[in-house]
Amino acid sequence: MSEEAGSFRGRVHRGTQQIGGTCIELEAAGERILLDLGLPLDADGPSDDLLPPVAGLRAEDTALRGIVLSHGHGDHWGLLPLCRPNVPLAMGAATARIMRAAAPFVPNAFVPFVSFELVDRKTFQIGPFSITPYLVDHSAYDAYALLIHAAGRRLFYSGDIRAHGRKGGLFERLVSNPPRGVDTMLMEGSSLGRLDEDTQFPTEDDIEARLTESLRPPGFVILSASAQNIDRIVSIYRACKRSDRTLLLDLYAMEILRATGNERLPSVGWPNLSVYVPEYQRRQIARNKRFDLLEPYRSARIYRERITEIADRTVMLFRPAMARDVETANLWTGTRAIWSQWDGYLKDGPGAGLKADLATRGVPMEIIHTSGHASIPDLKRLSNAIQPEKLVPIHTFEGDSFGKYFNNVTRRRDGEWWEV
Ligand SMILES: [Zn+2]
Ligand SMILES: [Zn+2]
Repeated sequence: MSEEAGSFRGRVHRGTQQIGGTCIELEAAGERILLDLGLPLDADGPSDDLLPPVAGLRAEDTALRGIVLSHGHGDHWGLLPLCRPNVPLAMGAATARIMRAAAPFVPNAFVPFVSFELVDRKTFQIGPFSITPYLVDHSAYDAYALLIHAAGRRLFYSGDIRAHGRKGGLFERLVSNPPRGVDTMLMEGSSLGRLDEDTQFPTEDDIEARLTESLRPPGFVILSASAQNIDRIVSIYRACKRSDRTLLLDLYAMEILRATGNERLPSVGWPNLSVYVPEYQRRQIARNKRFDLLEPYRSARIYRERITEIADRTVMLFRPAMARDVETANLWTGTRAIWSQWDGYLKDGPGAGLKADLATRGVPMEIIHTSGHASIPDLKRLSNAIQPEKLVPIHTFEGDSFGKYFNNVTRRRDGEWWEV
């Protein structure tokens, strides 16, 4: 293949100095694409002033050929609702289904219309850009790293990535068979500043083992975890089976599991699993007249009276809106809590409120969690495997310390154009 003439440029709108709100603009032959259009983690919600200055997001500009989402976390797609609706979108098919399934239950919902589906290692074309997605291990389901080839140059974007989850094999496959000839690599560095250079995160299997131990003694357990962290839901389910408990999943969690389209994930009819519809979801369903949402779960439903009977041997996937259900079923006495997500969420907002509420009730809380992001040793393996000419820090608060751990680091500023 002949090398095309012309330049391939890029700029990071948000992410060289922070985790979240990721947006990368790429330009070749006068045409452009975006990789991700995230909501900053510290934003109250999407607002127009957060939208990066990209021609074609607000007003029509046909040079903006599409937006490619690496995965379904809001810090990578949360500004999409503000973008003109006819910019073509590329994302994984399961990611789109999960966003659709979540819509009736979450604030800032977005139901995407997908023009290009990302398929593992299947190259597709948007204008002058050849795009090859690599399915990766991350706490979001259906997450991809992206190789972009244009004007004879190659950019590799890690997206959010880890090696210690249930799909760690995908990371091993990437480092043993990496894309070659990468000129610029945008690599996430969420773990820098959170973890020592040589420390590894616990694996998802370690989390399953710790949950199993914690669940063995009797007593009602409320467990806070993201319903969209499928790896974790699997760890929790398996720990329930091993400790002879029933897992109570709400409608939202069941809809997300179903949207994956993966038959190897817990579903209706599986042992040790019941579907509980909390009061706030019953109201949501009545308000939106979405009684159809209940239909698939009829045979697996469990009601309050039965939960009270078997509470000692159940685990409820819990969020603060369910406190009333625990109250009404008179279950607080003897209840234990497990926090199975980032402990930073306990510092403010609903997490801090829950923590204070549980302390008032005398409910002990244990934290059992592992990160969705790679440890520094694993990031080193990734950058050594890819050996980019330039390694640009992204999705990190510690971009200035990349040089301590990785080769060929080139620091970029938000908004600054550079040649790939
Ligand atoms: Zn992220
Ligand atoms: Zn993510």
